[in-house]
Amino acid sequence: MLIEKINAWAELCPERIAHRHREQMLTYARLKTSSDSLATWLYDAGERGEIRRGTPIVVYGHKESEMLTCFIGCVKAGFPYIPVDSATPPERVRQIIEVSGAWLVLSPQRVPQEMVQAEMMIVDGLVVDREGNLRSAEGDILSELPFPITERHVQGRKSGTVPTCIQPKNASQEPSLLASVPTCIQEDEVYYIIYTSGSTGVPKGVQITLRALESFLGWVNPAFQPEAGNEVFLNQAPFSFDLSVMDLYMSLSMGGTLWSVDKDQIANPKELFTSFHSSGISYWVSTPSFAEVCLMDPSFTDTLLPLVKRFLFCGEILTHDCASKLIQRFPRARVENLYGPTEATVAVTTLTITSEILSAFNPLPVGGVKPDALVLICDTDELSAGIVAGGGSLPNRPEALPEGKQGEMIIAGPNVSVGYLNNPEQTEKAFFSWQESGVTWLAYRTGDAGMVKQGLLFYQGRLDFQVKLHGYRIELGEIEENLRQIPMIENAVVLPIERRGKIDYLQAFITGDKPIGDEFATVLALREELRQHLPEYMIPRRFKFLDKMPMTQNGKVDRRALLGGSS
Ligand code: AMP
Repeated sequence: MLIEKINAWAELCPERIAHRHREQMLTYARLKTSSDSLATWLYDAGERGEIRRGTPIVVYGHKESEMLTCFIGCVKAGFPYIPVDSATPPERVRQIIEVSGAWLVLSPQRVPQEMVQAEMMIVDGLVVDREGNLRSAEGDILSELPFPITERHVQGRKSGTVPTCIQPKNASQEPSLLASVPTCIQEDEVYYIIYTSGSTGVPKGVQITLRALESFLGWVNPAFQPEAGNEVFLNQAPFSFDLSVMDLYMSLSMGGTLWSVDKDQIANPKELFTSFHSSGISYWVSTPSFAEVCLMDPSFTDTLLPLVKRFLFCGEILTHDCASKLIQRFPRARVENLYGPTEATVAVTTLTITSEILSAFNPLPVGGVKPDALVLICDTDELSAGIVAGGGSLPNRPEALPEGKQGEMIIAGPNVSVGYLNNPEQTEKAFFSWQESGVTWLAYRTGDAGMVKQGLLFYQGRLDFQVKLHGYRIELGEIEENLRQIPMIENAVVLPIERRGKIDYLQAFITGDKPIGDEFATVLALREELRQHLPEYMIPRRFKFLDKMPMTQNGKVDRRALLGGSS
């Protein structure tokens, strides 16, 4: 089990650095004691009824080591966690808290009052002290260590059963396998929830179980072969994005060091490159967009990062140009193009991009499917009809289109999410199942267009209004919905504007009250209004005010006409 592995690293090499962020370093020993301390406190708070069992806990912050302590502490106490980056606008955090039903926010930062409800519990200003205790801002140790494992702790939540990650003190086990935790998350329970953009205007909470996470790790660790206890993983994505699950848990499960860069370092390439010198990064995990920015600097070569063995990319198109530059500048490293959505636990396909692949394909394929998963290319209409008729389940595996035919990519297998938290409507639209040889296959409709060619899978864009801008997943409908809430706006359509085959920025087209006088001031005010609800990357760069929306013959907004084309 994942938590046992992380605990075992604390026994085996307690002083190894589990997480590094600027000057902050957290050893495996401190990660263990601080997360045990938090887990005990959470468990007891649950027993006292201060937090309800089964409800998720929001972990709010940006790259601090204490966030790792909180993730592991929550899981050890049997609570799923929701990572929320502190760059998220308070109104959006408030919305996430409300729709998730969370009772508690844990944070190494000060939590803005406006984002939480009055009756919620907040434990903020958390720090891991020199002894490895977790202290709150008031300086209280959350729980004294070492604490005894009592009968009560061992009983667990499931009618007296002993959870597998708990061993009684006298068990004839290696001490390293003694997990001193009360009631760890079990295989079929939700381990984390990540909120993604939702087209209805409300973010969707993707629930990932421990089984799904372990299935992902059981694939990537053997496939990418990090050396146990010896690697440094770059963490570029905030913990609220599922790409970070790859670096965080590959690293912790393999006794690696997670090397986080924060948003200020990313915004200051000079400082970032200086820090790269001493980083020792051997596994580079990022969006392709981040690598493209780094490649603009000619010093981004294997002289700067001599230990890099692999580049692991996921989340958006890896361009031919980016991959070929990396192969030239890092001839000893391998470049991997992984594909997958948050709903299928980070990724389900991968392909090593070699010079042969580069000469054979442009755009690049995405792989090669994980052995225990399926990616089927299906006819969207046929699939929808079958799912509707079967009430969410199909009698058999849906029929896949032949090679060379484009269709919707369907992902099925053990790493598919169990659905969106408290959102049956959206869950029903995106997830379905079927039975095969007595096994239930959970499946997710990605909304991605794809095709199989020469035995390889190709990603061919979206079938809906979801876009990726600089690696961020955005439902254009969510921005439009927020714009429509502004009194002066009647209707709004947001479109991605491309430059050289890539989305460059978003533009909003608006009808309603025309700005009186200074249009620039109106745009500033609209942006400010949106910032209350949406993260910065979702704010359109340009706004165009129209007398009326162009419409197609069948009464839909004519998006092509908005971009200056004919419909
Ligand atoms: P997210 O849930 O943020 O990881 O976003 C998932 C979406 O990102 C997928 O449904 C795809 O549209 C896109 N995506 C993920 N990986 C790739 C890839 N390797 N190439 C192209 N698009 C990708």
